[in-house]
Amino acid sequence: PPAKLPVTLGERSYDILVGEGLLARAGALLAPVLPARRVVIVTDETVAPLHLPALREGLAEAGFAITAEITVAPGEASKGFPTLQAVLERMLAAGADRRTAVLALGGGVVGDLAGFAAAVALRGLPFVQLPTTLLAQVDSSVGGKTGVNLALGKNLVGAFHQPRIVLADTGTLTTLPPRELRAGYAEVAKHGLLSGEAFWHWCEAHGPALVAGDAPALVHAVLESCKLKAAVVAGDEREESAEGGRALLNLGHTFGHALEAECGYGGSLLHGEAVGIGLGLAASLSARLGHCSQELPGRVIAHLQACGMPARIADLPREFSAEALLGRMRKDKKARDGALRFVLLRGPGEAFTAGDVPVAQVERLLRDEG
Ligand code: NAD
Ligand code: ZN
Repeated sequence: PPAKLPVTLGERSYDILVGEGLLARAGALLAPVLPARRVVIVTDETVAPLHLPALREGLAEAGFAITAEITVAPGEASKGFPTLQAVLERMLAAGADRRTAVLALGGGVVGDLAGFAAAVALRGLPFVQLPTTLLAQVDSSVGGKTGVNLALGKNLVGAFHQPRIVLADTGTLTTLPPRELRAGYAEVAKHGLLSGEAFWHWCEAHGPALVAGDAPALVHAVLESCKLKAAVVAGDEREESAEGGRALLNLGHTFGHALEAECGYGGSLLHGEAVGIGLGLAASLSARLGHCSQELPGRVIAHLQACGMPARIADLPREFSAEALLGRMRKDKKARDGALRFVLLRGPGEAFTAGDVPVAQVERLLRDEG
């Protein structure tokens, strides 16, 4: 039987199921939680040939009818209004009604896009997450945030729309490019640092096997990550706290977003790679400010390197100016009144938000690291 994590978010409780081969059993797993055996599947052109056949079979076994299969181009560019409109028109033209569930089969792009389409079509259709990237299984499929990008910025339009169930089929991760798997692992390491010594130690011991594809390690990491994120989200569902709650999930992200922005989104640096380097920088800043042990930054950096990831700015093939990165951080939407906000660590499991970090300290860190 798949591992089951019950969560209560929004107005409903539902299960996150984690295990290998769940897509092939999707019909039996979905039937008890959906109002009708009718679904629309949204996926992308890369995922469709790999994993749609198993899902089709799993649905057919339980007598499900597929109202429409909608395949979008892979990549962040599909997370916008033109594709959203096309998805909505296709699902409604095919006859989707209030009892037809929208199934998102793919990574975070498909999950965010299909989830938002489900939130707004006919003022809300039942929604199911079938995440196929490690990032989607440990991060984007948990918490109920859906949405699309504007030219003005990422994720500026969206809605909270909780799924009826999440099936995290870890078997789908075997087809993921190794670099995408490692990048997704950065969010697992982040959850390890946020969770506490137990999960962080587990990451240090099992991370290298996980990024090499170890199946039991993947199941454990997805479960523990979802547990951590669901618990954080449950305390702050609508991201109302500027300091606690969901804000802590931004560990490593102030630095990470600045690196990503400098490289150009969709460019040479994956989000998870930027976050990994951001985790090392957040730990280093915490140590310099006297909040955590002097060993922690070295442990974080050594761990990410052991997992085959770039872990410091110096590991990247280009240079970054401290001024440019600082400029990016000032523009980050999480920065308030130009003051730099960071999630810092006192140790694993002890994260907090500091809104008063001296710019000079950050600048010195970036110069030393860059
Ligand atoms: P993605 O969906 O673009 O997937 C990455 C690539 O992997 C794509 O090319 C995709 O086609 C391919 N792919 C997916 N599954 C595969 C598989 N099993 N085998 C082979 N290839 C596969 O990107 P992502 O990293 O999964 O998600 C990033 C998105 O998630 C961003 O838009 C980000 O804003 C969003 N996000 C949302 C939340 C949230 O809370 N809603 C949280 C974090 C990130
Ligand atoms: Zn992230």
